[in-house]
Amino acid sequence: LNLPPRVEGRIRLGVMGGTFDPIHHGHLVAASEVAAVLDLDEVVFVPTGKPWQKAGARVVTDAEHRYLMTVVATASNPQFTVSRVDIDRGGLTYTIDTLKDLSEQRPNADLFFITGADAMSQIMTWKDADKLWELAYFVGVTRPGHELELPPIANTSKAALLEVPALAISSTDVRDRAAEGMPVWYLVPDGVVQYINKYDLYTRCDETGDGHL
Ligand code: ATP
Ligand code: MG
Repeated sequence: LNLPPRVEGRIRLGVMGGTFDPIHHGHLVAASEVAAVLDLDEVVFVPTGKPWQKAGARVVTDAEHRYLMTVVATASNPQFTVSRVDIDRGGLTYTIDTLKDLSEQRPNADLFFITGADAMSQIMTWKDADKLWELAYFVGVTRPGHELELPPIANTSKAALLEVPALAISSTDVRDRAAEGMPVWYLVPDGVVQYINKYDLYTRCDETGDGHL
């Protein structure tokens, strides 16, 4: 792993961006594994405002629900925190803005952006992709069903790949299961199951007619 060594006085901060609709154990295992292997001090989960990749594709659950489920899921881990930067900025979420805001809020932190293999391959399409490397290191993690490789544009001195325990869980699958009345226990933390039930999330009818909520 070609990653920077620990610097005295600097915090090593993992950044896990996502829609988290809802957060599941795949996200949590990935964050925990990267934190351990890269010796991170903290991982901040950053629920998106409106994800641009998903604009128009389907109705994303209200940001406050996604934020609160992320808080519930991470509350018991002293290394995990949640940031509202993307939600409070409003508009579509671009990773460059997330990293700029976090580096302003946390000037003593070195940022390690954590992304699954599927999202990693979209890196070329990210806004201001060339400037991302100045703001963070990028850690791509394995995800079942997706090839893990650095996109050609990747600055290889600022990016690394890491195998994490494979959990074939996706938020899409969790939503579909909830809509069908199938159990989501053990795919998401218990508190998230209870939150989904409390607010009756993911039981609305299919709005686009594509079989997904
Ligand atoms: P959706 O099905 O709605 O796209 P998702 O399960 O892909 O949801 P996201 O919120 O889109 O979850 O993902 C946030 C980040 O977590 C992305 O970088 C994604 O690649 C990564 N990720 C999601 N699920 C896993 C998993 N099971 N293993 C490793 N990484 C994951
Ligand atoms: Mg996804």
